[in-house]
Amino acid sequence: MAKFTTYFLMENEDVIEYVKEKVSFFHENSDLTSKEIGDGNLNYVYHIVDRTTGKSVIVKQAGDTARISEDIKLSTNRIKIESNVLKLHGELAPGHAPEVYLYDDIMNCCIMEDLSDHTILRDALLEFETFPKLAEHISTFMVQTLLPTTDVIMEHKEKKSKVQEYINPELCEISEDLVYTEPFNDYNNRNELFAANKAWIEKEIYEDKQLHLEAAKLKFEFMNNAQALIHGDLHTGSLFVTQESTKVIDPEFAFYGPIGYDVGNVIANMIFALVHGDAHKKQSFVAWAEQTISDIVDLFNTKFNRYWDTHVTDRMAKEEGFKAWYLDNVLSDTAGVAGLEMTRRVVGLAKVKDITSIEDEAKRVRAERICLSIAKQFIKNRHTFKTGNDFLAVVKQAMKNN
Ligand code: ADP
Ligand code: MG
Repeated sequence: MAKFTTYFLMENEDVIEYVKEKVSFFHENSDLTSKEIGDGNLNYVYHIVDRTTGKSVIVKQAGDTARISEDIKLSTNRIKIESNVLKLHGELAPGHAPEVYLYDDIMNCCIMEDLSDHTILRDALLEFETFPKLAEHISTFMVQTLLPTTDVIMEHKEKKSKVQEYINPELCEISEDLVYTEPFNDYNNRNELFAANKAWIEKEIYEDKQLHLEAAKLKFEFMNNAQALIHGDLHTGSLFVTQESTKVIDPEFAFYGPIGYDVGNVIANMIFALVHGDAHKKQSFVAWAEQTISDIVDLFNTKFNRYWDTHVTDRMAKEEGFKAWYLDNVLSDTAGVAGLEMTRRVVGLAKVKDITSIEDEAKRVRAERICLSIAKQFIKNRHTFKTGNDFLAVVKQAMKNN
């Protein structure tokens, strides 16, 4: 069969033929259905089910242009990065990544475990569902996937070859623009300000020169601190959950960057969920979200310390006080990035449903102002955040003041 020897963008019928040829658990005569379920801007995600046995898989294929516009050309190398990182995550944090059955560098796709028995965390949070094990799971995932890929633990020549392997210039450029630049100056003319909040945002964000300076420092930290192999897009839309399980998907933005980028994204997106719950007066959900935000930071700290103590290899990293200094930097990056994420999701073009689904105008204005006041403090005072309580105190204060 010569059909899959040159790259083309598959349709449902092609995907059915493809999985029959490539993986052994479907019989050649199986009665398969395929449905495209992708909701992103970049890739195609197919859900394939065997009508007789109920067995299923996911095929994710990268196009060489973005789904939203043929003018946006993107290297298909991102699906290779994603497949390799998913495999690595499965080894480093067992149970927290979908299994990858096959990566195909001709068709630029991968075949992976179907997680349809899980729900996308953001969707569940929008319904005010709570997940008692989330803080435990996500803190374990972050410590176990991030720390072992740093120079603290990994042999330094191997680490440098990983930096090279995971160089991801195009997707990094997206973050450099959308997260680190446009929210402060709209230089690409595509920010979207909620009309009723426009004047307030222009004053608080566009005119705050001190904020711009701190964002600039963080931008160069993102571009120059090849600290660990980070997920790069760890928001609540990249988490699949049940009451018992947490799985992380979609690491196509992965590269060697600051650890705080991942931790900060998780914190920011949990705050969006909290603010959404607050707008709907869901007190017990808000209480759970507060506790979870605080627990994620504290559990991350505890597990980070423990993992460091049992795994550190670098001689100088064992010097007294170095671990505390290193973790302090990770936490200030975390606060800074959480602030940037909260800014760009309110001001920039890529929004989150947690905020845009708030229909009442006054409530949306309040939700946005809460987010942006938190964001400004996270960014400007980032060196003062050490514990879960430090983060939570700012969140609670902003809810009172707005
Ligand atoms: P993109 O990179 O294009 O944003 P994602 O990896 O986020 O794509 O996947 C888009 C959607 O496809 C997810 O929100 C989810 O609904 C579905 N999906 C992705 N991976 C899986 C999986 N392993 N099992 C089930 N559904 C999946
Ligand atoms: Mg994606």
